[in-house]
Amino acid sequence: MRKQIVAGNWKMHTSLQEGSALATSINKMVKNEVENKETGVVIAPPHTHLSVVNQLINTERICLAAQNCASEAKGAFTGEVSAKMLSTFGVKAVILGHSERRAYYGETNETLMKKVNLVIENNMKPIFCCGEKLEEREAGNYFDVVKEQIENVVFNLSKEDFEKVIIAYEPVWAIGTGKTASSDQAQEMHAYIRKLIVEKFGNDIADNTTILYGGSCKPSNAVELFSKPDVDGGLIGGASLKAEDFIGIINSFN
Ligand code: PEP
Repeated sequence: MRKQIVAGNWKMHTSLQEGSALATSINKMVKNEVENKETGVVIAPPHTHLSVVNQLINTERICLAAQNCASEAKGAFTGEVSAKMLSTFGVKAVILGHSERRAYYGETNETLMKKVNLVIENNMKPIFCCGEKLEEREAGNYFDVVKEQIENVVFNLSKEDFEKVIIAYEPVWAIGTGKTASSDQAQEMHAYIRKLIVEKFGNDIADNTTILYGGSCKPSNAVELFSKPDVDGGLIGGASLKAEDFIGIINSFN
């Protein structure tokens, strides 16, 4: 059966000192306060903090993730960080296709495909984000938008490689806005994504694929969201920057 996961995306927040303190608190609280030891915990600090955070956490219990990687393996790409470099910091997963990267850095299906392949080649898991914008939700074509994002990237993988992918459904209108999708809206989309996976790769793979919800998830709404059968956890932005809130969300599974 698929794994339930709560992943924290720290975005471009925290100095190294603040990030170290946050990682230390999360590590301690995961050890002492997380009731279900099976729940996967992932944290994605900024690239600059990865090496230090890797030393501060129990990497057997908490998975270190990055927020992005380069679309090329190596070479003259000033300022970029390759998937291989990340793997040498102890990174086990990489968030790809976050709506902020699609919107502000022009990430396309083509660049995302290259990144997904590089992440897998370097033995890490892609956390692949998809989700519609507000106007697409209002126009009623949100299923088509998400289908297109998934079909043109992760559905190009082989069955074996697709099994390494974690999907994060993040409606853009809910990210950082305080406006959460209702649990029914989340369930509807998650069930739809799982149906697409069934059609492409079959029931077993679909049953084993973790599909996270992201968008203003916090301790006060996580219980309701996580009670839905196809919502396997969350990708958390703002609330992952406070250890107590992040742990509250991790403890929200029934
Ligand atoms: C995110 O950035 O992935 C996210 C879900 O952010 P927030 O929780 O702040 O809406």
